[in-house]
Amino acid sequence: MLEEDRLISPEILAEDMGDQSLRPLKMRDYIGQERVKENLEVFITAARERQECLDHVLLSGPPGLGKTTLATIMANEMGTMIRKTSGPAIERPGDLAAILTNLEPGEILFIDEIHRLPRTVEELMYPAMEDRVIDIVIGKGPAARTLQIDLPPFTLVGATTRPGLLSSPLRDRFGIHCRLDFYTVDELSSIIQRAASILDIDIDKDGAHLVALSSRGTPRVANRLLKRVRDYATVKGDGYINEEIARAAMKMLEIDDYGLDTVDRMILDAIIKKFGGGPVGLETLSAAVSEETDTLTDVYEPYLLKLGFIHKTPRGRIATERAYRHMGYPYDHGMTAGTLFPEEKED
Ligand code: ADP
Repeated sequence: MLEEDRLISPEILAEDMGDQSLRPLKMRDYIGQERVKENLEVFITAARERQECLDHVLLSGPPGLGKTTLATIMANEMGTMIRKTSGPAIERPGDLAAILTNLEPGEILFIDEIHRLPRTVEELMYPAMEDRVIDIVIGKGPAARTLQIDLPPFTLVGATTRPGLLSSPLRDRFGIHCRLDFYTVDELSSIIQRAASILDIDIDKDGAHLVALSSRGTPRVANRLLKRVRDYATVKGDGYINEEIARAAMKMLEIDDYGLDTVDRMILDAIIKKFGGGPVGLETLSAAVSEETDTLTDVYEPYLLKLGFIHKTPRGRIATERAYRHMGYPYDHGMTAGTLFPEEKED
C-alpha cells in the first residue's frame, strides 16, 4: 500500500493542506506537551526581556505531533517573522547562503527534516549558528578567496523525526532541545473538540473520545479522522457525531481501538506468524510487509513501541505478549520473545 493512501499516516497528505485554520497560533492554544511549553515559555520570556533572539531550538519527535506548529507559535510569541524550508530543499551551500543573508533581523528560520541537510550545507551552518557569519568562496583555483559575511541575528528552529541521525557538531549548536511525545487520549479529545468547533462539526464528548483513541497519539491523524467521521455522519446519519457513529466509521475505515490500521496489523501478524514472534531484522520485516525500512522506522514502529506491542533488541524486533493478545493469538513465546533477553538495550 502506498504511504500516501494511508488515512492514519502521520505524514502530511494532500487533504491536510487546507488545515491552516486548525493550527494553534499562540502557546495557550497549543494543547499538551506541557513540559516543552513550560520550558519554551521561560526561554521566550527571557529572550524578549533581554530584547535578544531566542537561542537555536531543535524540535524532535515523530511526524504530525506539532513541530511546525510550535515553530510558528514561537515566532508569534517572539513577535517575529518565520521563514520555512526543509533539509532536502537546501541542496547547495549557495542556497543556504541566499536564505541566511536575506533574513530579517530576529527572524526565525525553520528547517524541517534538518537531519537531511547535505553535509556541505551543514558545514556552512556551524559558523552561522555560532558566530553569525558565513564564509563564501569566490572564484576558482589559485585565485579563489574566502569572503566572510556577517549575518543578522536569527534563530534556527530545526525539526527532525530522527534526532539520532543529526551529526553531533550540528546537534551541539542548538541551545534548546525539545522532544515532543505522543499525546494522551484526553489531550487528543481536546484537540478534536477544538478542531470540531473551528470546522463547525457537531461532535459530543464520547464521540471525540472514541476518535481520540484511534488517533495514534498524533494530532494530525486526529484532525484527519475527525473529517472522515464527519463524512460518515453526514452520509449515514444527520451529521451529528456520537460514540456509535464514530465507532461505525472506524469500523468502515478498518481502524481499531488502538488506532492500528491494516498495515500495522500486517506488521504484527508477520512478526508473530512468519517469524515466530521474533527477533526479526528490519530489512527482513520490511521485505515481508512490502514497506520501506524508513517508513517502518519513522511511521509505524514509534507507535507500536509506544503501545508496547513490539520491542527492539540488538537482534531485531520482537512481538510482545500484548501484541499476541491484541491479534488474538495464544502467547507461547514467553521464554524467547519476552523474557530471555530482558536487559538487552533497544537499538
Ligand atoms: P509536525 O511538524 O510535527 O509534522 P504539525 O505542526 O504540522 O506537525 O502538526 C500537524 C497538525 O496537527 C497541525 O496542522 C495542527 O492543526 C495539529 N496540531 C499539532 N499539535 C497540536 C497541538 N498541540 N494542539 C492542537 N493542534 C495541534
